[in-house]
Amino acid sequence: MLHRDSRADGSFVFAVRSTHIYCRPSCPARRPLRRNTLFFQTAQDAEKNGYRPCNRCRPKEQDAATALVQRAATVMSNASGDAIRLGLLARQIQTSPAKLRRAFRRVTGLSPKEFEQAFRLVRFKKLLREGSNITEALYECGYGSSSRLYEKTNAHLGMTPASYRRGGEGMQIGYAVANTSLGKVLVGATDRGVSAVYLGEREGSLVEALRKEYPKAEIVRATGESEGWLKEIVRRVEGNAPSVDLPLDVQATAFQRRVWQELQKIPRGATRTYTQVARALGKPRSVRAVARACATNPVSIVVPCHRVIRSDGNLAGYRWGLQRKQKLLEREAASA
Ligand SMILES: [Zn+2]
Repeated sequence: MLHRDSRADGSFVFAVRSTHIYCRPSCPARRPLRRNTLFFQTAQDAEKNGYRPCNRCRPKEQDAATALVQRAATVMSNASGDAIRLGLLARQIQTSPAKLRRAFRRVTGLSPKEFEQAFRLVRFKKLLREGSNITEALYECGYGSSSRLYEKTNAHLGMTPASYRRGGEGMQIGYAVANTSLGKVLVGATDRGVSAVYLGEREGSLVEALRKEYPKAEIVRATGESEGWLKEIVRRVEGNAPSVDLPLDVQATAFQRRVWQELQKIPRGATRTYTQVARALGKPRSVRAVARACATNPVSIVVPCHRVIRSDGNLAGYRWGLQRKQKLLEREAASA
């Protein structure tokens, strides 16, 4: 509540004794004194105790949207197999497709379809972690064939079932390091895609950072495929336009994935503010969460988090050093 973290919305509301108003945790209004603050599990509980919904954060609407998404999710979890049809789903829970779509966007930031896909993947990964083999888990989750699953997980998650197994354990990451005009660049990759792009001064500390990020993976010096990827990334570091698509193999939450995809839409030579990215995602209040997703981007350059800056033009932070961020932006602006 103190951080106005919208992830807490829907799990409780807080009420203010002096004003008789209740709010969601993320309400933008000034925070009341602790001694004037009460907490309730739901909007309904707050109203039963005589509190009115706040006009700024509209906790009641959020509640209605959350309830709708909850009902839809229950239907999805009971329907094994075929993908959902929005019209049918809406009818089953007595609402309209448009309302349902809005509720999903608002509560989860995803469309019902994206949500359903993410939902299925969560189930699929759970089955793998619990020891099912891939074929069993595939059928259990209603994927037609394993090639279709590989397609979907690659496009939507950037993480393939095989490398996900046992929480990333058993993943083999090969790394290669090259010199660039911005120092060393380390590229880590599995045989399916790029998992890490780090910039720095010393090879040793870059490899150390890679081991920290993937503690359970087997990390070895690369041979073969990643050479081409390394060359491509070096070209991009020097400000050149992408010449080939780079497949990614990274772990991501649904939200991180959306932010990273949004960052990949920022043209070379341009920048966006965290606020603009949050708005483009349809989640204008998630500026902090967007900043966090940028800061945790494991594949710099390929996901160009360096193109996101603060609203006042300040460059904000960069894991690989502000000077590098500035130089990357200058180069891209000059050659775009
Ligand atoms: Zn409020």
